[in-house]
Amino acid sequence: MSIQLKIPVLTYHGMNINKNTYAENDHLALASDLETISELGLKVIPLSRVVDWHQGSLPDEEVFRTVAITFDDGSWFDYYDLDHPTCGVQRSMLNILKDFNLRNVSGHMAHVTSFVISSPQARSSLDKSCMIGKDWWGDQWWMDAASSGIMDVECHSWDHVHSELDNVAQQNQIKGDFSQVKSFIDSEIQFTKAGEYIGSVLGNRPSLFAYPYGSASDYVVNEYLPKYQSRHQFRAAFTTEPKAVSKADNKWLLPRFVCGHDWRSPQELIEILTRA
Ligand SMILES: [Zn+2]
Repeated sequence: MSIQLKIPVLTYHGMNINKNTYAENDHLALASDLETISELGLKVIPLSRVVDWHQGSLPDEEVFRTVAITFDDGSWFDYYDLDHPTCGVQRSMLNILKDFNLRNVSGHMAHVTSFVISSPQARSSLDKSCMIGKDWWGDQWWMDAASSGIMDVECHSWDHVHSELDNVAQQNQIKGDFSQVKSFIDSEIQFTKAGEYIGSVLGNRPSLFAYPYGSASDYVVNEYLPKYQSRHQFRAAFTTEPKAVSKADNKWLLPRFVCGHDWRSPQELIEILTRA
């Protein structure tokens, strides 16, 4: 009897910068974690390959001892080195990956996926309320990132139904909980309109989705996503349920671990990676 193969998917937030320590800065955590992953002999593969495997088009042999990495929210901290007002210059998440790939002699290129908030108005508003108000949430970098060969740009909803927005695309204006998106009209905006906008920037539609706040309604999982695929064009969606992806998982509920929440030290990451 073979052991059930599982692949951990790790999630970081580029704007998590409170101090220059592992536990309070996702950039420092990512740089350290890439080394830990490498020391454990694991490869970082594209999230799309994990989905290929999950959907049966990639054999187990291709994904043995692998992990995938994702970034959420899609601020400029994913792409540009920026001078943070209290913590100083921060190497971008993509440049940390590039640095790692340059040092890595094995020839394997680690790859990441950035899940971006689609709505330009939502990003502009959140830039002022949640970040530093320096206009660091534009989508100018999406195309270059997607062309880098080591970062895919995918979808993190239209507006994140974010609690800091005046108005959200949820019919009762319930904010801060994506599982309250549970009608066709709301889903059309959060999935299809979101995918259309990202597609208009990139030249092709995103195929992967990460739920804001990590969860989704039964309507989205059992009705909208399975039945309207020709409209939204996604082929899988990710939660933040803290476990590794297995073949038994629903493709609209693929789990991910979150840095700073599910692990706060290299040792805790090792426990996650060796358990999988
Ligand atoms: Zn988010």
